[in-house]
Amino acid sequence: AAKNAGRNGYAIYEPGMGEAQRRRQRIEAELAGALDRGELALHYQPRLDLAQGRIVSYEALLRWSHREDGSISPADFIPVAEETGLIVPIGAFVLREACAAAARLFPETGMSVNVSPRQFRDPEFLETVLDALEASGLPPDRLELEITESVLVDDDRRAIAILETLERAGVRIALDDFGTGYSSLSYLTRFPFDTIKIDRSFIRGMEDDDSAWHIVESVLRLSEGLGVRVVAEGVETPDQLLRLMQRGCDEVQGYLIAAPAGADVAARTIPEAVRTILDDPAAYAATR
Ligand code: C2E
Ligand code: MG
Ligand code: MG
Ligand code: MG
Repeated sequence: AAKNAGRNGYAIYEPGMGEAQRRRQRIEAELAGALDRGELALHYQPRLDLAQGRIVSYEALLRWSHREDGSISPADFIPVAEETGLIVPIGAFVLREACAAAARLFPETGMSVNVSPRQFRDPEFLETVLDALEASGLPPDRLELEITESVLVDDDRRAIAILETLERAGVRIALDDFGTGYSSLSYLTRFPFDTIKIDRSFIRGMEDDDSAWHIVESVLRLSEGLGVRVVAEGVETPDQLLRLMQRGCDEVQGYLIAAPAGADVAARTIPEAVRTILDDPAAYAATR
């Protein structure tokens, strides 16, 4: 109640407002100052290349530690940032930080940055990306931008022109959360993505839901023909890893490898249990 009143006065609560709505307003009021108060920081989650058996890149994931409310999930504040437009300055901060971290703290690996539709539509987006590369000295081919198909929905031609400019500059482009949208397959024909990331919901369902597994399998088959790299998101169990390896998945990301963590503590190596499976999948398969 009192805590939720907001100190700057622009969160106005009507009686009868639901808890969710009050929470949404609180986030909106507080997010505006979060960047200046230094409450936003990046965590980094590794991506494991299955053929090479090593970490080949990291995904930058935004974290918000509010001075009173503690940590607030991106699932709660990214949509608010997107609706209010705050994602534009916040996204510029993410790009600068992630490129700087890649250049200084994660040598010889790629860095993936999530880009939301509103950010992508901003007239200065291209410049923001190129500035972050220049300021950090990061070679463009070590940066990958993760977009979702919703970026391509509204302003298709303009979006594709920007993606093409980025690709010509050497930046890689990934299609994130693949399979969750309306007509995912058709998006693969609109732009030559470097990477597709199969959404975590399919990986989670893989073991007991036959249709989820068939979808994963067909994406892996399809990708061979298209020459695109496939990353499985949200890999949590050795069995998921094994099945993905057996079907030629290129890379995995998930708690089995490592959770996202600050640059100083982010995983640099892979767990021994994962190493064992990579080294001898047949031996692991025989123990199951
Ligand atoms: P995403 O890009 O699909 O990121 C993957 C999400 O899955 C992350 O959640 C990550 O922490 C989580 N994850 C990774 N491995 C596992 C696993 O094994 N199990 C489970 N249960 N979860 C796993 P997070 O960090 O909460 O981010 C959620 C979403 O918020 C992201 O989904 C992305 O869409 C958005 N987001 C995060 N950071 C940024 C950012 O800097 N900019 C923009 N525009 N969006 C961001
Ligand atoms: Mg992502
Ligand atoms: Mg994703
Ligand atoms: Mg996802």
